[in-house]
Amino acid sequence: MLTGRCLCGACAYEIVGEPIVVAHCYCLDCQRLSGAGHATGAMFPEDGVTISGEPGLYSLTSEGGNTVTRVFCTTCGSPLFGKNTGMPGVMTVTLGTLDAPDAMVPQVAIFARSRRAWDVLDQSVATFDAQPSWKPADPV
Ligand SMILES: [Zn+2]
Ligand SMILES: [Zn+2]
Repeated sequence: MLTGRCLCGACAYEIVGEPIVVAHCYCLDCQRLSGAGHATGAMFPEDGVTISGEPGLYSLTSEGGNTVTRVFCTTCGSPLFGKNTGMPGVMTVTLGTLDAPDAMVPQVAIFARSRRAWDVLDQSVATFDAQPSWKPADPV
């Protein structure tokens, strides 16, 4: 089981199951969300995720027309999870909030077309200009 929490500890979570994919995302929304050049997250089946505390939710419409919901701590602001109606039943956890982030190995980089020159791309991962068409049952 994986565990994690926000910066202040008001929100915590447990995850049972294996990641579907671990990805760096360079999209503009992730740049705003993280305040950095990209966000790194691992997708898990939603039914294996248990959240404690009362995180806030923020939803927006993605470039692809799906509703993206961000789950964050309303006290300290840590981004914890993301959900996307284009991938029902799946949640993406931000790797930096895991208690043991080294257990995860990023496999892909997506939305590389939006990458900033100062945010150096990991050459060891498969890179996509935008969002590849993943299905949860069809891991990369
Ligand atoms: Zn917090
Ligand atoms: Zn993104």
